[in-house]
Amino acid sequence: IPAGSGGSIRTTCAYCGVGCGILATPTGERTARIEGDPDHPANTGKLCSKGTHLGETIGLDGRLLHPMIGKRRVGWDKALDLVAKRFRDTIAQHGPNSVAFYVSGQLLTEDYYVANKLMKGFIGSANIDTNSRLCMASAVAGHTRAFGEDIVPATYDDLDAADLIILVGSNTAWCHPIVYQRVRARCDGGAKLVVIDPRRTETADEADLHLAIRPGTDVALMNGLLAWCRDAGVVDHDYLARHVATLDTFWDQLAEGSDLWSVARTCDVPLPDLKRFFELFAATPRTVTMFSQGVNQSLSGTDQVNAITNLHLATGRIGKPGAAPFSITGQPNAMGGREVGGLASSLAAHMDFTPDNVARVGRFWAAPNMATRPGLKALDLFRELGDGRIKAIWIMATNPTVSMPDAGRVREALAACPFVVVSDVIETTDTSVHAHVRLPAAAWGEKDGTVTNSDRTISRQRAFLAAPGEARPDWWIVAQVGRRMGWKTAFSYDRPAEIWREHCRLSSYENGGTRLFALPGHAAQGNADYDAMPPFRWGGTPFADGRFPTPDGRARLVSVVQTPVAAPLPNWPMTLNTGRYRDHWHTMTRTGLSPKLARHREDPLVEIHPDDAARLAIVDGGLARVVTPQGESLFRASVTRTQRVAELFVPIHWTDRTATGGRAGLLPRPLGDPISGQPGFKSTSVRIEPV
Ligand code: SF4
Repeated sequence: IPAGSGGSIRTTCAYCGVGCGILATPTGERTARIEGDPDHPANTGKLCSKGTHLGETIGLDGRLLHPMIGKRRVGWDKALDLVAKRFRDTIAQHGPNSVAFYVSGQLLTEDYYVANKLMKGFIGSANIDTNSRLCMASAVAGHTRAFGEDIVPATYDDLDAADLIILVGSNTAWCHPIVYQRVRARCDGGAKLVVIDPRRTETADEADLHLAIRPGTDVALMNGLLAWCRDAGVVDHDYLARHVATLDTFWDQLAEGSDLWSVARTCDVPLPDLKRFFELFAATPRTVTMFSQGVNQSLSGTDQVNAITNLHLATGRIGKPGAAPFSITGQPNAMGGREVGGLASSLAAHMDFTPDNVARVGRFWAAPNMATRPGLKALDLFRELGDGRIKAIWIMATNPTVSMPDAGRVREALAACPFVVVSDVIETTDTSVHAHVRLPAAAWGEKDGTVTNSDRTISRQRAFLAAPGEARPDWWIVAQVGRRMGWKTAFSYDRPAEIWREHCRLSSYENGGTRLFALPGHAAQGNADYDAMPPFRWGGTPFADGRFPTPDGRARLVSVVQTPVAAPLPNWPMTLNTGRYRDHWHTMTRTGLSPKLARHREDPLVEIHPDDAARLAIVDGGLARVVTPQGESLFRASVTRTQRVAELFVPIHWTDRTATGGRAGLLPRPLGDPISGQPGFKSTSVRIEPV
C-alpha cells in the first residue's frame, strides 16, 4: 500500500480538509513529482492547484533547521531541558492553569494525541486549544447538541446520491475544489445547486439559485424553510416520533417571524427567489446541506448549525444516502484533532469532562494530574495571556499573531509573555519572532502519521523526504518534553505507530469512545499494519438505524432564534467579511513558496460594491484603508458587483512579513459564539477610506 508504481509513496495533501490522496515520487534530494492518488476515495486521482504545486514548496528556503534559544543555535538536549524546566517551574509557582498549548489542525493525529495527553493528563490543565477553534468549533457544538456527540452525519458519497445540494457560507469552488468537482459532476447529472452566501462567489456564479442573504441571517432563513416545510406537509412526523426528542415549545417558537415575507425582509433577498428555494427543498428528499466557515465563523454559529440540523431531522433527511447536513472542515486534520480531544472543551475520543470520563481517561493514561474541567478556548486563552495569567505558552504549527481576531492584541500579549515556545517548520514567522525557544519540526513529506478528512476517512500521511538539519516530528518533541518533566514511561514512544495503537485502544467502545470512533481492530495491530494501512472510514452511514448517542437514543430539535440584525453604527457603517483565495492557504508560509500559486492573486484586495466606491471616492485598483476599533490595514480596492452594498470582503492570507498591508486579522473584534467560542470573523463593523 505505501508504495505506488514507479517508486512513489502514497500520502495525503498538506492543505485542506478534503483530504486528497497523493502519490509523491522523489526525483532528487529535495524534489518530488506530485500526482493525485487514483485509489484514494477522496479524490480518485484529481488534485486542485494547491495540491498540484506542492512539489514547489518542499525546498529548504526559510526552514528552521536547528533548535534555537533566542538567536543562539543550541542542541536538542539544551532546548528541551529549558522548555521542560520553565514549564515545570511555572506550574510549581503559579499552578497548572498558568501554562497553555496552542496547536494546529496541521498536526497529525499522533502529534495531537501526545500534546493533549501531556496537557490534560500530566500537567493537569485543559489549556490546550487549537486553531481548529477558528475553523469548525461551532459545527462540533451544533452536532453535540443535536446528535449527542460530534458526529458528521454525511460522507462524500452522499453528494453523488443527492438531487439537491445546498452550499451555505462556502465558496467551495475555491476553498474545497475537489469536493466542488464532485458537486459539479452531480449537478451536471441533474441535481440542483443552491448557494447561500452574501457574496456572489465563483461557486455562486454556477448555481441554479444564489441567495445573497444579509450576513448573519441564516437562522431566519432555515427556520423559515422549516416552517414552510411544516405547512407544506413535508415534515416527517413518523421519523420525529421514533427518533427525535422535541420540546413542546419548539414549533411555537419556530413560527415567530418565519412567514415568507418576514424571512425575505430579514434576509434581504427577493421573495420569488426565496419561494423558489423553499419549494425546491420541499420537493427534493435527497438533499445534502453542506456548510463551512460562513456558518461556523459567526457570532451565532452554533445556532446556525442547529437551524440546519433541525431542518434535516424534521424532514427525516439524515442517515439515508444523499440526505444529510454536512460540515466541511477547513484544515487537513481538524477532524483528527477532534477525535483525540485536541480542543480545550473536550477530553479525548470525543469524551467530555464528566467525572466518569475523567476517571476513565485518567485510568487509561495512568495520569497523575487529570484535568477535571474544560480549559480556555482560543479567544479566552489569548485574553488571559494578555492579562498575564498565562505565563508560559507553547505554540505548535500555527501563526496566531496573523490568524486570530484582534491580532495586534495577540502580538502584544506574546511579546509580554515570560516564556514562549514555538515549534514550526519555518524559521521566522510573525509569531516565532516572539519566541524564547524555537524548535524545528519535521514538515509535510518528512513525517509519518494519520489524518482524518471532512468525511471521516482516516489516511496515512507518509514521509518521502529525509527531515533536514535537526528537524524532528512534533510527537517526538512533545514526548521529549513530557519525559523531561518527569513522566518517562507515559511518553516513551519510539514510533508514531505506538501512539496510533494507544489512541485506538483509548477510542474503543470499552473505554468510553463512541461507536463511530471505536477504530477497527486491524488498524490497531502491529507496525506492519500501520505502515500499510489503506484509507478507511469506520462504520457505515451514520444514524442509518435512527439511533443517536444520547441517553434516550434520540436526536434533538434545538430551538434557535434569529438574533436581531444590528443597525449600522455611525462611525462603522459597513460590514466586513473575510475568507480565502483559491491558491493560498492560511498565512502563506507554504503557498507563498510557489511562484505559480502566487500569480493567481498577487495583492490583498478589498472588494467593494460600485455604489459604495463612488460614494466614498474609492477607485478600482487604488489603495484604501479599512478601519475598525481594533486596528486598520491597507488593501488595494477591487470595485465589484459581487459584493452587497455596505459590505466588504478581504482575504486572510497576508502578513506583516509578506506585505505592507492586507492584515485582515487586525480588524475583527475578539468576540466569539457564546456556545462554541468560535470567533465571528464574518460580520465586523468597519469603515473604509481612500488613501
Ligand atoms: Fe489538497 Fe484540498 Fe486541493 Fe485536495 S482539494 S488537492 S486536499 S488543497
